[in-house]
Amino acid sequence: MSDSVVDVIKSLTREVPDFPEPGIQFKDLTPVLADRNGLAVVTDALAEIAAGADLVAGIDARGFLLGGAVAHRLGVGVLAIRKGGKLPPPVHSQTYTLEYGTATLEIPADGIDLAGRRVVIIDDVLATGGTLAAAGALLAASGAEVPIAAVVLELSGLGGRDKISPLQVASLQTI
Ligand code: AMP
Repeated sequence: MSDSVVDVIKSLTREVPDFPEPGIQFKDLTPVLADRNGLAVVTDALAEIAAGADLVAGIDARGFLLGGAVAHRLGVGVLAIRKGGKLPPPVHSQTYTLEYGTATLEIPADGIDLAGRRVVIIDDVLATGGTLAAAGALLAASGAEVPIAAVVLELSGLGGRDKISPLQVASLQTI
């Protein structure tokens, strides 16, 4: 990724030690999204990766903001992959392990036909990979094709990229 994209992300990311658990270095991308240039630079770079998608899927919660912006940029729709218990039934559901604790992701099992759609997943951070792997599994179970996932920041020391294989991921910044 170009230096300028990485510089923008670096300069606006807030480091929060010991959140939400002791020992976790939380990378808060909220200031990137709240900055006019930050949002534009990150959206354009993610949209380049997602080119050719006919639907963008954003993961709860910062992935919703990024996913919506990227979908609009590409002229396609957006699907919210939500945390468990938020969607009305019927849902497809997947429980997985996080860097801290466990979580469940859900998508609607009715009302949106995902069969054969090219869906690109968008999220803010790739850490251990459980979230992206679960999102990919949910979409695959619905018959979607997921050519690639795109994240702003990849924490490479946590092995997430290996865990989500064969799902491909592109990141704007790797640390
Ligand atoms: P994982 O499933 O471990 O790859 O975690 C990725 C998801 O959890 C993303 O949706 C992130 O928003 C969040 N996350 C996990 N670890 C961090 C971290 N160190 N900093 C910021 N967000 C994180």
